[in-house]
Amino acid sequence: MLQGTPILVLKEGTERERGKGASAGNIAAARAIADTVRTTLGPRGMDKMLVDSMGDITITNDGVTILKEVDVEHPAAKMLVEVAKTQDQQCGDGTTTAVVLAGEFLKRSEYLLEQNVHPTVITRGFQLALQEARRLLESEIGTPVKAEDEAILVDCAITAMGSKGVYGSREELAKIVVNAVRKIAEVRGGKTVCDVDQIKVEKRHGGTIADTQLIEGIILDKERGHPRMPTEIQDAKIALLNSALEIKKTEIESKINIKNPNQIQSFLDEEDKTFRRMIDAIKAAGANVVVCQKGIDDVVLHYLAKEGIYAVKQVKESDLQKLARATGGKIVTGIKELSAADLGKAAKVDERKVGDDDMTYVTGCSNPRSVSILIRGGTEHVTQEVERSLHDALKVVASVLEDGVVCPGGGATEIDLAVKLRKWAASVGGREQLAVEAFAQSLEAVPWALAENGGYDSINTLIELRSAHTGASANKNVGVNLADGKAADMWKLRVIEPMRVKSQALTSATEVADMVLRIDDIIASKKSSPAPPSGGGHDH
Ligand code: ADP
Ligand code: MG
Repeated sequence: MLQGTPILVLKEGTERERGKGASAGNIAAARAIADTVRTTLGPRGMDKMLVDSMGDITITNDGVTILKEVDVEHPAAKMLVEVAKTQDQQCGDGTTTAVVLAGEFLKRSEYLLEQNVHPTVITRGFQLALQEARRLLESEIGTPVKAEDEAILVDCAITAMGSKGVYGSREELAKIVVNAVRKIAEVRGGKTVCDVDQIKVEKRHGGTIADTQLIEGIILDKERGHPRMPTEIQDAKIALLNSALEIKKTEIESKINIKNPNQIQSFLDEEDKTFRRMIDAIKAAGANVVVCQKGIDDVVLHYLAKEGIYAVKQVKESDLQKLARATGGKIVTGIKELSAADLGKAAKVDERKVGDDDMTYVTGCSNPRSVSILIRGGTEHVTQEVERSLHDALKVVASVLEDGVVCPGGGATEIDLAVKLRKWAASVGGREQLAVEAFAQSLEAVPWALAENGGYDSINTLIELRSAHTGASANKNVGVNLADGKAADMWKLRVIEPMRVKSQALTSATEVADMVLRIDDIIASKKSSPAPPSGGGHDH
């Protein structure tokens, strides 16, 4: 019928790649991403310096930060970047691990594809292996911890911060992290919930990392509005306003015709009266502190100072909300509606000098679950990296408190899973067995990379680890000791991680590998270029 006539289904200009070519391209792109972050894995990992289009630099070792900053073009590579983001949201840690694992799964699949194992068989095998791995994590590898096990929580925080540039002060920072998370932990419906977003993290460069401190209360990156205001208020009653204490400027240009000097006076008097009414409303409610999200007129600030009221203006909305939660106050829009019941309460509001700037401290809040961490460090790059490691550590400690299960780090968990999965593979049979074996093999990439980044011979390390995990005297806690590249008990070295990090990394890495493997056809519509190419252009 239609012999010889090509059927044009796709629009002209659409690019299409099918079959093996498509999957080979995808796998290569995903592996390229994995290779980029592999060298940052572990405390001995190297840092990356990222330069954005504006020339700003970031120096980091954090997988997700690196991948977020890098402008990735290839769709399969983008999927890998997504893995890092999911891992970050779920656990706050283990992002590099998840990406390295996904890259490794794909590398091993490539070999199977070359042996003509169908992608569907591979993905099925991977799913089986994942289920078994999760079962092993829960039943054999994980160790339960209690909220009172402070030392273990601190170890988890230290491990999470391990590879970030905070080496010298890890112990102190870990204690701050554990204390902060414990403060905000609450029991809801019989379950512990730790919403780490409640912890306010502020950073100020100057001083050293060791000056970083935990503050029971909220700190605002703002000084008081007027030099004559008191620097300290005891027994604070705080008005939280989200509208300006100013007279609205008319939007349409207006002109005031004044015929005699009395009129000027009455005009100014009117303005003054409005300001007075604002002050009266604040006084009537009984507030001695005003925190305003918008601006405050200089005249109002002057009057507030005269009344001995402490005021800060232009406070961030999120800070105002945190303050409301901490002090039990209500955010009020119209100053006229302000009443005593809306005021937040705190034992003290005061201004303190931090580095070159003044900050406002609200301490002794009525809600004990309000804490801030003030990060200090030599330069801005240092405080930024401290912030990133605290982010990981806060989430890690929160997951341990919520789930109550930990695993050994340093590649011990991965090697143990690999050994056990390899043994279990025989029971799977069929071609899927090959995929299960490939999955097991891939897990060894973690201890391998840890050893390699430490400058050791990965082959020797791996041989030692495998033998420590097999036989009668097998010890599931043996991982890489980065001090000498030898096998050692990770509980003794205090390298411990939440089970959630391990299990989520495996899950998301498997998911993305499956997704990439299932693609056998890439149909890309031509990019619509905003303007016709004017020659030149630049490469990506
Ligand atoms: P991720 O983004 O995956 O968390 P990291 O660079 O933080 O990557 O490295 C995490 C890995 O480093 C984990 O496997 C963890 O167990 C390991 N690790 C952390 N501290 C140590 C240590 N002191 N000795 C050995 N391994 C460690
Ligand atoms: Mg980490």
